[in-house]
Amino acid sequence: MSDCLFCKIINGEIPSTKVYEDERVYAFKDIEPIAPYHVLVVPKKHYSSILDVENNDDIVSYVFSICVKLAKDEGFDEKGFRIINNCGDEGGQSVHHLHFHLLAGKKLSWEA
Ligand code: C5P
Repeated sequence: MSDCLFCKIINGEIPSTKVYEDERVYAFKDIEPIAPYHVLVVPKKHYSSILDVENNDDIVSYVFSICVKLAKDEGFDEKGFRIINNCGDEGGQSVHHLHFHLLAGKKLSWEA
């Protein structure tokens, strides 16, 4: 999508600090981290949100597998980590390209 911020990050038009890339996924450090480790794991294919993912599409399980790999690579499997997807206005989604936050490195609080 030509006008999408994360599509531009994925294709290199906008700089980012990449931590992982393969044919389906691009992962980079969040520019406003809310935890010591805060990475966004983003499908390269443009989906506006989780609502765009069809039932027979395995992209979500694939993204989760990459999140777990990154967490293990960083040694967070012992202490723990969190994976978050925000959907829509009240869900806190600000960028309309499907992405998952991977948070770790401190005791995370929980509020809604
Ligand atoms: O879930 P939500 O849509 O709010 O998350 C978007 C995230 O993208 C924010 O955490 C924001 O800091 C991050 N972001 C970024 N680089 C940009 C623009 C936004 O890491 N250039």
